Amino acid sequence: MKFLFASVLVLVGSCSTLRHSDKIENLKNSISFDDKEVVYKYLNTITETELKEHVTEFSDDKYEGRKTGEKGHDAACEYLRNYYKNLKIKAPTTHLDYYQVVPKGALPEDITNDSQNVIAYIEGSEFPEEYIYITAHSDHEGIVNGEIYSGADDNGSGTAAVLEMAEAFKQATINGHGPKRSIVFLHVTAEEIGLHGSRYYTRNPIFPLENTVSNLNIDMIGRIDEIHEENDNYIYLIGADRISTELHFIAQKANTTFTNLDLDYTFNDEKDVNRYYYRSDHYNFADQGIPVIFFFNGEHEDYTKPTDTAEKINYTLLSKRTKLIFATAWYLANSDQRLKTEII
Ligand SMILES: [Zn+2]
Repeated sequence: MKFLFASVLVLVGSCSTLRHSDKIENLKNSISFDDKEVVYKYLNTITETELKEHVTEFSDDKYEGRKTGEKGHDAACEYLRNYYKNLKIKAPTTHLDYYQVVPKGALPEDITNDSQNVIAYIEGSEFPEEYIYITAHSDHEGIVNGEIYSGADDNGSGTAAVLEMAEAFKQATINGHGPKRSIVFLHVTAEEIGLHGSRYYTRNPIFPLENTVSNLNIDMIGRIDEIHEENDNYIYLIGADRISTELHFIAQKANTTFTNLDLDYTFNDEKDVNRYYYRSDHYNFADQGIPVIFFFNGEHEDYTKPTDTAEKINYTLLSKRTKLIFATAWYLANSDQRLKTEII
């Protein structure tokens, strides 16, 4: 009796395992870039030269380390909104100045001024009410003991990536290849002091959260950590499979089709002691049940130091990583079916 019971269990177990692997296989096979040549065309508008221009500008001393609520950060936000204005990428109709004010009451007590998230978007041609968010925080540490914290990697790199992707999607739109779903470019404030800008946004969303398909968040993608000094062709992906199995495989397909980076899932381990999943802005979207990916290069010797400067960024790598995120966003925005919020 005991023996029989055990073998029945084994049978049931193996059956369901088989079904699961079939499901995964079917899911993987359903993901393909049929418009590969078109994607390449806009992917290739993302250049090292322009990324370098943005990182260099954004980490310039004139922005005084972009501390939340201070004039340096306000000036950096001004740079961002002027960029969107110049490219004729729209502000939300409810926030025509591209700013969502984050009142000082929503910020830690030592911040004595209001701050702002910067938001721009390209309206989808077929499903305008469905939104893909590409986010990066705009703030950094400010001036500490007389030293300016430039934050070129943290998060000049992510900011530059968002700006380049916005330009690429705008160019595609001008040429009649605009995204089917809306793409929102959101630069959140007050990340360094507790993810406040993204928390404020997700509690006071400009576009309905239930219509939010996914959030691709970028925080530090221009450098190399110690573990990868020998092989720098990598990026960490965190959170991709936690809410949507499909999202995990879309990022993999984007990578094998266009970029061939080593996708490192080390920090996606739920037992990861660094708890990075909880430590950048995507978390506030994930907390609302929205599938997210956090793109990250890991920590390095200049992390949260005044020596995180623009000339130390690896622009070839920054460009490649930006292209991976662009291709992932492209798929999410243009697939026939909306991304499934489902774990297989
Ligand atoms: Zn950061």
